[in-house]
Amino acid sequence: MIRKTQLSVSMAIFVAIASVSALAQNKLPNVVVLATGGTIAGAAASDVQAAYTSGQVGVEQLLAAVPQAKKLAVMRGEQISNIGSQDMNDEVWLKLARRVNEIAAMKDVDGIVITHGTDTIEETAYFLNLVVKSKKPVVLTAAMRPSTALSADGPLNFFNAVAVAANKDAAGRGVLVVVNDWIHGAASLTKTNTTAVQTFLSPLRGLIGTVAYGQAEFYRGPVGRHTADSEFSLEGVTALPRVDIIMAHENMDGKLIEAAAAAGAKGIVIAGVGNGNMTQAALDVFAAQAKKGIVCVRSTRVATGNVGRNVEVNDDKMGLVASDELNPQKSRVLLRLALLKQRSLADIQRLFREY
Ligand code: ASP
Repeated sequence: MIRKTQLSVSMAIFVAIASVSALAQNKLPNVVVLATGGTIAGAAASDVQAAYTSGQVGVEQLLAAVPQAKKLAVMRGEQISNIGSQDMNDEVWLKLARRVNEIAAMKDVDGIVITHGTDTIEETAYFLNLVVKSKKPVVLTAAMRPSTALSADGPLNFFNAVAVAANKDAAGRGVLVVVNDWIHGAASLTKTNTTAVQTFLSPLRGLIGTVAYGQAEFYRGPVGRHTADSEFSLEGVTALPRVDIIMAHENMDGKLIEAAAAAGAKGIVIAGVGNGNMTQAALDVFAAQAKKGIVCVRSTRVATGNVGRNVEVNDDKMGLVASDELNPQKSRVLLRLALLKQRSLADIQRLFREY
């Protein structure tokens, strides 16, 4: 038989434990999860099949699938879109960037996680890196295997992303991407494999850090300017200028460059061979478009390395811009934002060096 005193002691212990855990709960950082779709929210008919559809699982299901993350942060979710990131578009970008800025400005928010597809995550991360005005952690994550797959990588990636977003040491390092235990900077990461779980690398600058089961270690910050220190702003912006990417190759002529200009491109990025090169025929057409006022940037189709100014091509004479460290897809992002206002070519070249 339990005596009255025993009962009241156990009650007191219960109340004490409950209030300690309530206190701990209150101390957890607040992380907002913005879901955009991708394979992390993808579903297949079976757990061992390659074919699947991105963007099938909603944000609440995503949160519910990783209950372990509740120990790291108090989370709430919002669905921004639910698309494969191959369909990422300006409408979603502008909505996402506005929402990230609004949420980051909230006093009770410590960090933001964005779930995204891997195909264009580097573009979205870099875009946000340029237009988010906050030092708070903004962390994108993704998965290579759909949520229904055997050994799905999404849950641990999500858990690690929440851990990084909730970590004070992540602040001020720009927009980050957490996939497969690695923390990448938005300017440096790129997708390098079509199907492997270990697809993202930061080839030139290396990692910002690593994260193992929620334990993050930071090595450094990004070198280029970003977020709170960025000069770009989306205030009053309802549309982004058109910039096309054209890949260079053997026997290239200038027809696609002319077609891009005719389609209304305000800027053209060449994914050049080697150090941003192309055939003389293409170069002549490129320089002619530059003379007409289209901003022409030489980037490279090579996986890693800088494109230097005036190396094999006389950029000064031809009125071209060299992409420096940015690959074609990120060069396009930077150029679109650069073209939101009138700038000299020298100023645009400066942007490619600084960001
Ligand atoms: N196509 C998918 C997407 O980018 C691939 C992925 O998420 O891994 O949405």
